[in-house]
Amino acid sequence: MHHMRALPGRWIGRQRLRLALGLCLLGLLLAGPALAATPLAGAWRDVRSGDTPAKVLADYRDGGLQRFDPGLLFRLPRGPQGTWVVLAPGAPWVQEQRVLSIYPPPLGTVTLYDQNGPRVSLAVDDFGRGPHGHGRLAFVLGHQRPASAPLLLKFEPTERIAAPVSFRLQDWTDYLGTDAHWLVFASASLAVMLAMALMAICFALILRDLTFAWYAGYLVCYAVIQGIQTGFVYHPMGMDWLAGLSITVGSAAVALSVAFASLFMTRFCELQRFAPLLRVPVLSLAVGMVAVVLMRCSQISSLEGIGQLLVNPLLTLGAALLLLASVIAAVRGSRHAWFFLAGWTPLLVLTAMTSAQVNGALPALPWLNDAGLAAGAFEAVILSFGLADRALLIRRDRDQVRVLADRDSLTQLLNRRAWNEAAILAMSDLSPRPQALLFLDLDHFKKLNDKRGHAAGDEALVAVAEALGQELRPNDLLGRYGGEEFVALIDGAGAEEALLVATRMCRRVHRLEIPVDGAELTLTISIGVAVRRPTDSIDSLVARADQAMYDAKMGGRNRACLQRRPEEPNVPRRMAR
Ligand code: GH3
Ligand code: MG
Ligand code: MG
Repeated sequence: MHHMRALPGRWIGRQRLRLALGLCLLGLLLAGPALAATPLAGAWRDVRSGDTPAKVLADYRDGGLQRFDPGLLFRLPRGPQGTWVVLAPGAPWVQEQRVLSIYPPPLGTVTLYDQNGPRVSLAVDDFGRGPHGHGRLAFVLGHQRPASAPLLLKFEPTERIAAPVSFRLQDWTDYLGTDAHWLVFASASLAVMLAMALMAICFALILRDLTFAWYAGYLVCYAVIQGIQTGFVYHPMGMDWLAGLSITVGSAAVALSVAFASLFMTRFCELQRFAPLLRVPVLSLAVGMVAVVLMRCSQISSLEGIGQLLVNPLLTLGAALLLLASVIAAVRGSRHAWFFLAGWTPLLVLTAMTSAQVNGALPALPWLNDAGLAAGAFEAVILSFGLADRALLIRRDRDQVRVLADRDSLTQLLNRRAWNEAAILAMSDLSPRPQALLFLDLDHFKKLNDKRGHAAGDEALVAVAEALGQELRPNDLLGRYGGEEFVALIDGAGAEEALLVATRMCRRVHRLEIPVDGAELTLTISIGVAVRRPTDSIDSLVARADQAMYDAKMGGRNRACLQRRPEEPNVPRRMAR
């Protein structure tokens, strides 16, 4: 592998430009309409046996509930029977149709109690009629409801650790604007992720490189996670068959995304080369994650328990491990590890920011939750640039291999196969220009080898090849045909010109004054010249030139000889030296 190269300045410049473009695009997506929302005060307490809505509201007025800020992300504690939440709208109170959103949508069912009328229960994965909200749970409050009346919600108990949520009260128009903006933004982000995954699959098939396949797997898993967490797969996608499966599919996607990410980064960041000690732990993480998924889906309760117990520690450990491995690989010179870090760091930062806000260390950031989608799309774009770069390197390696396969390693001339291919191509040109072929064979070369050794013979071959090349034009094809035999296809030359070129070559080699035997004998060359006839194939042309070369040897060597005439096939032609 020749993957390590110095970074050319121009390349960095182009990459910066692409990065900036990508960031602008995501910025545009994120910049939504300004949020107009009624201020809310909030309080909560666990559900107790014997609770009635009126009793909870009375408790609230007596200050018996714990206060919290509904505008910030808050991890609502879940009692064994559920949790009450009271939200009190602040002034100004306008009597109109309003929407209360819980954002992002919590897992499980939430019920809104009316003062004295019916109650409404919503869950992200129910498909009842009426407005539901996208990326949130939305309760429509009719205009007959008093604008200042506190709103009572009950979060039903769930078996899972509840994700943090925030609350927002908007009038109908504002709500519709927010909802439409979210839909556009989420669709664009998910489309970017899936499009990049599709592209990666195409590359995996074309280049036969598993790296791209693992990357596609990772992206698809991440898109599934986001699709389930934001409820996008239910509303607007309407995938009702997922309704009962969201926990299983979601946690399988989380575990698999880590497994795919480990497999991907092992290859992409070339851990074997840049961080060999971490390669086995990272690959074990992938295997471990798959094992956890299998345990959780095993239907055997003890195994499911172990899987449940292991998943979170493994996730944390995995993130730390991948971060460490990519930092080490990047510092040791893996260019792609930088791509990995650049794409992945925003996601890590967001996770940290979310937990900071849940712990009260951050002010309200309305974009924080949507940022998970944006960061996913951002990562997809950045890593796809990284993969495009990898594809470029693979192509460069392939080109290099091709050059190596076409050239003779001693003289750097085209080898016999490559010369043949090139000559056939040149002869397939239908233009009526003449073409001539020279067949060249060094004289007494065996003697040179015997007297001065094989190394001196090799040196002589290199010197002669270089000298021959200098007598030709760029369009002419010079190749090493065999041991000390060369061929040259000369474009646009008839018999006279070809003979002239050949004579010049003879003199040139002679003038090199390469000693053959240490005494007075110097190295010379004999050349046969054949001119292309309309019926010629490359083989017949070479055969005639070879014959002429033999005539030149017979004629005393160190000379060029023209092919025999068709009407006198046994009479050698003119010689020149
Ligand atoms: P002639 O004038 O009749 O062509 O005599 P010659 O000695 O050149 O004839 P021959 O074709 O019998 O000898 C070719 C020699 O070239 C034999 C082989 O040892 C030598 N040879 C072939 N390839 C190489 C090579 O790559 N390096 C070296 N040093 N010698 C080579
Ligand atoms: Mg020979
Ligand atoms: Mg020879």
